[in-house]
Amino acid sequence: MVTERNRKGWQVSAGPTLLAEDIHKSFGDLEVLKGVSVAARKGDVISILGSSGSGKSTLLRCINFLETPDRGRIVLEGEEVRVRSDARGRPLGADARQIARLRSQLGMVFQQFNLWAHMTVLQNVMEGPVQVQRRPEAEAREDAMAVLEKVGIAAKADAYPAQLSGGQQQRVAIARALAMRPKALLFDEPTSSLDPELVGEVLRVMRGLADEGRTMLVVTHEMGFAREVSSNVVFLHKGVVEEEGTPTEVFTRPKSERCRAFLASAL
Ligand code: ADP
Ligand code: MG
Repeated sequence: MVTERNRKGWQVSAGPTLLAEDIHKSFGDLEVLKGVSVAARKGDVISILGSSGSGKSTLLRCINFLETPDRGRIVLEGEEVRVRSDARGRPLGADARQIARLRSQLGMVFQQFNLWAHMTVLQNVMEGPVQVQRRPEAEAREDAMAVLEKVGIAAKADAYPAQLSGGQQQRVAIARALAMRPKALLFDEPTSSLDPELVGEVLRVMRGLADEGRTMLVVTHEMGFAREVSSNVVFLHKGVVEEEGTPTEVFTRPKSERCRAFLASAL
C-alpha cells in the first residue's frame, strides 16, 4: 500500500479519505457552486470559511447528497458516487444505493442540532445505529453511552433535548453522529447558534475529535479554531475556492484580496 504522512506525522494511505471534486450546484438561475473541489486525507481537519451566501452549506449538503449536485463526484475511502448526466450534459443525479451508503458513513452536525424532541438523549444517539444500521440494541446502547461519555454528557442520557442547554444539545448531536462510526464528519457552523459562553464546550469536543485523528470538514466562523486546529483552510467566495492553504498560509499571507478583507472583518 502506498502511504504518506499526514499532518501528525502518522503513516496513512496515500490519497484523500474524503474527496469532493468539481462540485457544481445551481438553484434555478442561481449558480451557487461553480466547480468546487475539497480533499481531506485521513485525520485532516479542513476548515471552510466564507461570507454568508458563499455556498458553504450547499457544499456540505452536496457532499452527503442532502442536495444533489449537478455535476461532480464524491469519493469516501475509495468508494465513488458520481453524478451522471445525459448526452446533453443535463444532470441525472446519482445511484440511490451508493448515496445511501455514502450518507451512512458520513456524520453531519448542523447549526440547529436537529435532535428529536420526543426522544431522550440516549434514544437520539441509539436511533441511527439501531434503525439504520440494524445493530443489536444492547451493543448500540453500550456504544451510545461511550460516545456520550466522550462528549462529556453521559449524565444526561435520560434527559430530553429541551432540558439541555444549546451547548449540551450540540454535544449530543456530535455524539449522535459519532455513534454511526462515520469515516468522516461534516460540521456546518456548529457553534453559530450558541450563546457565547457555550461555544467553548463544543469547540473543546471538536478539538478532541481532531486530536484523535478524525477526518473533519468544518464550516466555521471560529477563526481561532480554524487557525489552531485545521490542517487546511479553504476560503469560499461566490461558489469558488478563492484561497486555500495551511492555516499559516491563509491567515498570515493570503494571496487573495477578498480573503484578506474577509479575515480582517472576521478577526
Ligand atoms: P452559506 O452557507 O455560505 O451562507 P448557502 O450554501 O446556504 O451559503 O447558500 C448559498 C446561496 O444559495 C444563497 O444565495 C442561498 O440563498 C442559495 N440557496 C441555498 N439553498 C437554496 C435552496 N434550497 N433553494 C434556493 N436557493 C438556495
Ligand atoms: Mg450556511
